[in-house]
Amino acid sequence: MVINNSLEEVKKRENALSIIKNIIETKGRSSLFDLTGLSGGFIASPSEISLLETYVGPAIFEDELQKVGKEHMGGEKILPLNRTSSGILATILTLVSKNSNVVHYLAQLPAHPSIPRSCKLVGANYSETDNFEEFSIPKNTSLVIVTGSTMDHKVIDEEEFRKVIEMAHEKNIPVMVDDASGARLRTVVFNQPKACDLGADIAITSTDKLMPGPRGGLMAGRKDLIDEIKVKVHQFGLEAQPPAVLAMLNGIKNFDETNLLNSFSRKDELFELLNAKYDNFQTTPTGVMISPEGLANEITAEHNLSENDLAFVFSFILLRDYGIITIPAVSMPGASATIRFDLSTNDAFGLDLKDLCKKIESSINKLQEVVINEDECREIVFSF
Ligand SMILES: *Cc1c(COP(=O)(O)O)cnc(C)c1O
Repeated sequence: MVINNSLEEVKKRENALSIIKNIIETKGRSSLFDLTGLSGGFIASPSEISLLETYVGPAIFEDELQKVGKEHMGGEKILPLNRTSSGILATILTLVSKNSNVVHYLAQLPAHPSIPRSCKLVGANYSETDNFEEFSIPKNTSLVIVTGSTMDHKVIDEEEFRKVIEMAHEKNIPVMVDDASGARLRTVVFNQPKACDLGADIAITSTDKLMPGPRGGLMAGRKDLIDEIKVKVHQFGLEAQPPAVLAMLNGIKNFDETNLLNSFSRKDELFELLNAKYDNFQTTPTGVMISPEGLANEITAEHNLSENDLAFVFSFILLRDYGIITIPAVSMPGASATIRFDLSTNDAFGLDLKDLCKKIESSINKLQEVVINEDECREIVFSF
């Protein structure tokens, strides 16, 4: 095994950031291709930056974020957070009591790890399913969770979404929607309503997913619940700080639906190219992906690596040899190891897809060569 635990995941991330820094310093930013779909950004004018004082910043930008955030998310009130995970944690700390049940429905397992981890922290009984027939709400349930679009961009069926909310509300149980990428993917590409308009009590989106904002979480929903959650958020330091609030505001204002729609049509071209050579690539709404299992199926050489290890090593080869950033190299512990090539953000717009396909192909060839040597794999992942 190359990566055995969360500490090693943190180490590989540190190494990936060193490699990125080196590419920027030696070859320049134009030699990096961030295809994570989380390329974020920080849009701010000098006059806005000059207002970023501890109390002046929130006075100006949080007020405007209420308006712009409600247009983006719906709901009665907006709460900006450090991350989506922070919003999930704060909601669970506020609404979920020890020994109560939390049930989660999503289009495809697994859930984002912040959900089970937060439930564990408060001592709740957590269960998740991607089989709608199996989904039910037991007695003593304090919170129902729905994921709008999973980490691998599997989007929930709208009818099932509506039914889960209806089932929860029949029992007076609040619904939290993890709409990290879904707030844009579901609405723009799949024409679904905003989570709050479907009746969600709380919805949280990630302001650097499929939009030009900073990493951060934007919560929207019922005013009474947001007010309670906000108390926990401030008690535990989970709120977004003024610079992030400013960049969230400008990120939402600069969100361009046409970029998502263009990537929706371009992904088929990339898929055709890869599918001509491999059996295990799949499309996502805005790009292509290969799961760790799929990647393992493409590798014919004998080896002792886990499926996730293969994905990590592949992600590092793409980064080192071609400056292509994919999530497994840079992700936080527990994130999905699926390799996604997302075409919806800046670095992808000018890419020649035939050239990208060649780079992916030669990275898979390189992976074939190195898998037989575990030491070499560790070196690729951990040493810069
Ligand atoms: C990315 C993501 C999160 C977490 O976002 P962070 O900003 O990393 O906290 C939660 N849920 C889903 C479905 C995600 O895709």
